[in-house]
This record gives sequence, structure tokens and C-alpha cells, in this order.
Amino acid sequence: MLGRMGLGSEPVDLVVVGAGIVGLAHAAEGVRRGLRVAVVERDEFARGASVRNFGHGCVSGQAGAAFGYAKAARERWLELGRLAGFWAEPTGTVVAARSEEELAVLAEFAAAGAAPAELLDADGVRARVPLRAKTLLGGAWLPWDIRVDPREAVGALARWLASVGVTFHWRTAVTGLEPGVLRTSRGDLAAPAIVLATGHDLDWLFPELAERAGVRRCALQMLRVATPGPAARAPGDGERFGPGVLTGLSLLRYAGFAGCPSLPALRARFERERPDLLAVDMNLMFTQLPDGDLIIGDTHETAVTHLPFQAETVDDLVLAETADLLGVPAADLVVRERWRGYYASAPGREFLVAAPLPGARVVTVTTGIGMTTSHGLAAEVLADLIP
Ligand SMILES: Cc1cc2nc3c(=O)[nH]c(=O)nc-3n(C[C@H](O)[C@H](O)[C@H](O)COP(=O)(O)OP(=O)(O)OC[C@H]3O[C@@H](n4cnc5c(N)ncnc54)[C@H](O)[C@@H]3O)c2cc1C
Repeated sequence: MLGRMGLGSEPVDLVVVGAGIVGLAHAAEGVRRGLRVAVVERDEFARGASVRNFGHGCVSGQAGAAFGYAKAARERWLELGRLAGFWAEPTGTVVAARSEEELAVLAEFAAAGAAPAELLDADGVRARVPLRAKTLLGGAWLPWDIRVDPREAVGALARWLASVGVTFHWRTAVTGLEPGVLRTSRGDLAAPAIVLATGHDLDWLFPELAERAGVRRCALQMLRVATPGPAARAPGDGERFGPGVLTGLSLLRYAGFAGCPSLPALRARFERERPDLLAVDMNLMFTQLPDGDLIIGDTHETAVTHLPFQAETVDDLVLAETADLLGVPAADLVVRERWRGYYASAPGREFLVAAPLPGARVVTVTTGIGMTTSHGLAAEVLADLIP
């Protein structure tokens, strides 16, 4: 016996839970396949990982299944940007190298050739991005990477999906499911096919699944700073960083660099010289918002439940490292915003796709690559769920 039916009078083929990028990617893929789609989201608008990130489509840094998803997702982001009218650009990435070990890893990555990479000397780096780090030795240009403004793109994508017929049930929490039916805080919703894209809150609905896979929350401290250098007269007027900027710490993180023979030597150098950066699991990187401000970060701390207190020392370290990379005094960095982002994290896997019931798929990106990969992942999940 079904409980009260109440939500949605129109029949749908697919119900997606969560309006973050994983959920919206499935909704967009559903539309592409001509399905009638509804999205159920507990908040008034998406405010999770998908709007708190760098908006960096790090295609070149992926390996395995993620690399395939990322290449497909790149094309979808650029297409959806045109359709939905949000900024999505093939900006590429510059990796700034400040040690011989970093240069060696980049040379090995370029030689392996999985993704195109052009090696740069210090002037070549500076020709692409205005970095003034005294320690800059060179770097690499990764042309396949893309960028979106996460604050704009996720909302714009939801609005565009609504305009092409997707039904959104905002401020509606999913509390459980049975075959073909979703239980929500506003009544039941008939759903022949269900995708649960609840991000790092997977354990609220599926505690045992989350525990079995070791899914925890990874917390990242992030800041928005005014771009230093010649004062901007108007927003967007200051120095431009078109490409995303990665550093040697990024090489330790992304799977695409994992096979480079010099990586252990690079890690050993950080362990020797900068254990403070490894202690907060820093991935020093930044991207620029359209108004010229920089999104800088990040650090990683994994737990099931985090204390809410954000250590100022961690922000200070991110600011000091960013200032060093930009080649400006840390005091010149004007902080405009600070926030914490959370994403799902699990040992030994980048994606968790599970079938808790027939006709339903739990889809969670379990490392920090959901913006890069979701559109490709969604195509594969729907091909299996609704052949
Ligand atoms: C600081 C930070 C920086 C990052 N940088 C990058 C980057 O540059 N590039 C990249 O590729 N990736 C990056 N990532 C990772 C990326 O942001 C995530 O992998 C991705 O956003 C996850 O998307 P999601 O839709 O699963 O999660 P979310 O965006 O968190 O969305 C989940 C949604 O589900 C909703 N929800 C949860 N439970 C329920 C329920 N029971 N009922 C209804 N709704 C529910 C939530 O309200 C939420 O809106 C970063 C992540 C962080 C935190």
C-alpha cells in the first residue's frame, strides 16, 4: 500500500534527487534522451559542493574511467553553456612549476601523451598568466581543460532545464524510497526510474551503503580574494588569469599524474621541505571569477561529521602560499569571502554507483572531480538505468 501521493500530478520517466551538478547532469542527459524529468531538491537552490568549487574542468589530470567521463563532459559543458547562456570556456590550465621535481613530472606527463601538454619556461608561463613568483622555473600548458563560473553555471543550468520542461520541486527533502516511489517531505512521488545524487549526504538516506564503501565528508577551506596588481578601475579590468592555475601540490593529487616516475621524488621533497602543506593536505590552485576576483584554495580534512570551527591558521597558510605564487606580499591580498565546501570522499574509488532498489541508482562522485566528470558519468548511468 503506497502512502499519500501528493507531489507532482504529471507523469515522469525519471526523478533525480539533488540539484547539484551530478543531479543536473542526469536531468540534462534525460532531456537529451527525450525523457520527462523531475528534480527534487531539499534547499531553495543548490548551495552544496557544486557552487563552492573552482569551476575547473580538470580534464587533463584524470585517468581511467574519469578521463573518459571528463572528455565527454567537456563537450557537454561547452554545449550547455551555449544553450543555457552561461559562461563556459576552453581556457586550458597552466601548471606553475617551482622545483626541478615538478618540471620532471610535467616532462614525463607531456611525454606520456594521454592529454596534450606543452612544456613552458618561466617566460612562457608568464606569457599565459601574470605570475610573479621569484621561484618560478617553468611549467606546462594543458589546453584540454575548461572553466565555468560555478556560482552562475549551476543556477543557470537549472533555470534552462526548467525552461525545457523539467519539473523542479525545491525545498522538498527526500526521506526514503520504495520500488517506483519516492517518499518526500511534501508527499510521495511516483518515479519509474530514480537517480539519487545527494552528494556528501549519501549517508543520510543510505548509512549502510556509505559505511560499506567508506564514504566520508571531505572539508575544504576556500577564499575569494581581490586580484592584486594594478588597481582595477571596473570589475574585470584588472589582471586576467584566463586559464586555471595549478601547482606542484596538484601534481600529487590528480590521478593523471600518478604514473609519472618522478612523482615519489616530488612527494619526498614536500615531505622534507613543506610538511606543513602536506599536514593540511593542500592543493594550491586558483581560478578567476568574471569580475576579476580569484577563488583560491584549498585544503582537505576528512571526517564523517566535522566540527564547524574553521581554523584561521589554515586560511593564513593558503593566503601565504597564494601570495608567494603570485609574487606579491601576503598583506596585499584582500579577502572578500571565506567558505567551507564539502564533497564525498571514499578510499580507492572516484565514483560510487549503486542500485539500492530495482530502477534506482545512487550516483556519488567520491573525490573532488564532480565538475569535471558529471556529464560523462550521467550518460553512462542513464544508458544502464533506462536503456
Ligand atoms: C571547495 C571545493 C572545490 C572543488 N573544486 C572542484 C573543481 O574545481 N573541479 C571539479 O571537477 N570538482 C571540484 N570539486 C568537487 C565538485 O564540486 C563535486 O564533486 C560536485 O559538486 C558534487 O556534486 P553533487 O551534485 O554530488 O553534490 P552537491 O553539489 O553537494 O549537491 C547535492 C545536492 O543534493 C541535495 N540533497 C541532499 N540530500 C537530499 C535529500 N535527502 N533530498 C533532497 N535533496 C537532497 C543537496 O541539498 C544538494 O543540493 C570541488 C569541491 C569542493 C567542495
